[in-house]
Amino acid sequence: MQSNYKTKTRNAIIEYLKDNEDKRFTARDIAEGLEESDVEINRSTIYRNLERLCAEGKLVKYKESDINATCYQYTEGHESCNKHMHAQCEICGQIIHLENDIFQNLGEDARKEYGIEIDYGKTIIICRCSKCKKIK
Ligand SMILES: [Zn+2]
Ligand SMILES: [Zn+2]
Repeated sequence: MQSNYKTKTRNAIIEYLKDNEDKRFTARDIAEGLEESDVEINRSTIYRNLERLCAEGKLVKYKESDINATCYQYTEGHESCNKHMHAQCEICGQIIHLENDIFQNLGEDARKEYGIEIDYGKTIIICRCSKCKKIK
């Protein structure tokens, strides 16, 4: 049952991401995490599923410079993360969804001024969140 296997794989990945919500992952972390569960999934299937979830806007994908790797993060309740930008706190790693008009306009302006198309699902602005800002 090919389609059954596909659904099972996808669900296992989503379940895993949900259990570890608000943490960042590399594809390898996810693969290793899933190996510990009893679902058997090969790595290329995991990569393919992660790419699809990103395209659907269910996952945020970004390049993490301190570990030089592509990271993924799942955030419950956000279904269109490919349509807005994100900021990440450099202290606690929290992802903030910049769904406000300011950032939508920024995308518009960038298009007009520079002729560039910002890929929202892959764009992370480094910041300090309101909690970490207070820590000196
Ligand atoms: Zn988002
Ligand atoms: Zn923070």
